Amino acid sequence: MALSIKKRLTCNVLDVRNLTDSTVVLRFERPALEFEPGQYLRVGVADDPEIRDYSVYSGANKEYVEVLVRRVEDGLVSKQLCDLKAGEQVEVGGPYGHFKLIHELREKPLLFIATGTGISPFHSFAESYEKLNYRLIHGTANLEEAYEAGFYGENYFHCVSREEGGDFKGRVTDYLKTLDIPLETNAFLCGNCDMIYEAFDMLQAKGLPTAQIHTEVYF
Ligand SMILES: Cc1cc2nc3c(=O)[nH]c(=O)nc-3n(C[C@H](O)[C@H](O)[C@H](O)COP(=O)(O)OP(=O)(O)OC[C@H]3O[C@@H](n4cnc5c(N)ncnc54)[C@H](O)[C@@H]3O)c2cc1C
Repeated sequence: MALSIKKRLTCNVLDVRNLTDSTVVLRFERPALEFEPGQYLRVGVADDPEIRDYSVYSGANKEYVEVLVRRVEDGLVSKQLCDLKAGEQVEVGGPYGHFKLIHELREKPLLFIATGTGISPFHSFAESYEKLNYRLIHGTANLEEAYEAGFYGENYFHCVSREEGGDFKGRVTDYLKTLDIPLETNAFLCGNCDMIYEAFDMLQAKGLPTAQIHTEVYF
């Protein structure tokens, strides 16, 4: 069923950056809307009623907007977005969501935990706010899915479940078991729901108050 939103804006695609065979960063003109890092937009191909949610990947200070899209082979919209070319158009609505780094948290220790394209809001945080004190733990099946990891420097830690060669062989939640987490940490979890439910319980068991655990479920 097509989702409908009140206000959709048509934007020109400026660039499509291939990160892997199945994942792109889609850059388009910044629509006439403000967003806060961590929020998501509803994006679809122009003139198609089907739209889906995509976290903003780029910083709030940029003149363009980027989203990180992984091609889901049996999906409807992600494939079309991955196949777009510069000069074509997307329709965009939003912003939506409350997965934000409020001002009071920006100087506190932060633990960002992502699976797959769930890294996207953390890229937007890091590009928008200078000098964040964060550690980013990214879980993927394969090594090549370390999407633009160089951007995060030493803050990035890669858990790879199906190949050797990352910082840790296994799932994010396997790595979390080994980790001591200072109780003043604010944890932000983004990606698939299995990881989020499991990591949430583990962080609580390690003593982190629920109010310091923030979540964004993709699917
Ligand atoms: C708040 C929010 C933010 C999101 N941000 C992003 C983002 O930044 N980048 C991104 O790529 N996706 C993101 N998603 C997922 C996105 O909205 C779509 O669900 C995804 O692109 C698949 O759409 P589709 O039309 O191709 O597949 P559909 O036809 O909608 O669904 C096909 C199937 O694929 C499953 N699925 C959805 N996403 C994935 C995935 N990544 N890997 C494997 N299976 C999946 C669905 O559960 C469904 O069973 C986000 C979702 C939410 C709720």
